[in-house]
Amino acid sequence: MRYALSPTGDLITATPGAAGVCRGCGGGLIPKCGGLTAWHWAHLARDCDQWAEPDNSWHLDWQSAAPADRVEVTIGPHRADILTPDGRVVEVQHSPISAAAIVEREQFYGPMAWIFDAREAFAAERLILYRRPTWAGFRWKHARRSVLACSRPVFLDCGGDLLFRVRRIGIDTRGRCTGWGTVGSARDFRVWLAGPAGAVAA
Ligand SMILES: [Zn+2]
Repeated sequence: MRYALSPTGDLITATPGAAGVCRGCGGGLIPKCGGLTAWHWAHLARDCDQWAEPDNSWHLDWQSAAPADRVEVTIGPHRADILTPDGRVVEVQHSPISAAAIVEREQFYGPMAWIFDAREAFAAERLILYRRPTWAGFRWKHARRSVLACSRPVFLDCGGDLLFRVRRIGIDTRGRCTGWGTVGSARDFRVWLAGPAGAVAA
C-alpha cells in the first residue's frame, strides 16, 4: 500500500521506522523500505482486501500520480487503487487476473477503467502497434486474454509515455489476439489524475 494513516491522522508514505494503520481495517501496517520494490506499507496481519495485488513499483508509481485522498479509497470491503477527479475508479493491474475477477470488479465498482501493465509485451514486440494518423491497430501475442472480459475502458501502459487505449479487442479467425485503439500520453493521463476534483477527462 502507498499510504498509511499516521497516529496524528495524516496520510503518510512509508519511511523506515514510521508507524501507521490501514484506513480500511484499522490494522497495523509496517513500512517496507528496501529491496527492489518502491517503499510501501504492508499489513502486519493478512491484507484486509482480498483483491489487493502484491505491491510492486509500477503499481505504486501510478498511484503516486493522484492526490493521497484519491488513492486506496475504501469502498465497502475493497480498496480502489485510484479515484479520478470525476469520481471513477481506476484499477492498475500488473499481476495476472482472471476473467471472472475482472467481471466481479466491474460489477462492484460500476464506472471504472483499467490500466494493465503491458510494458514487457511491448518491449519484447509481442504487442505490436500499427499506427495510422488517428488510430492504431494491434496484434498481441501471448496476450492477457482475460482483458477480453473487460467491458469498461482499458488502457495498456506500454512504457515511456505510451498509453494505449483499447477500443476493440478480439480473437481473429487464426486465433490471434488483435484489435484497434488510440495512442495516448501517460504523462497527460497522470496530469489529469493529479488535477482538482471535478476536472473532466481529456
Ligand atoms: Zn487493512
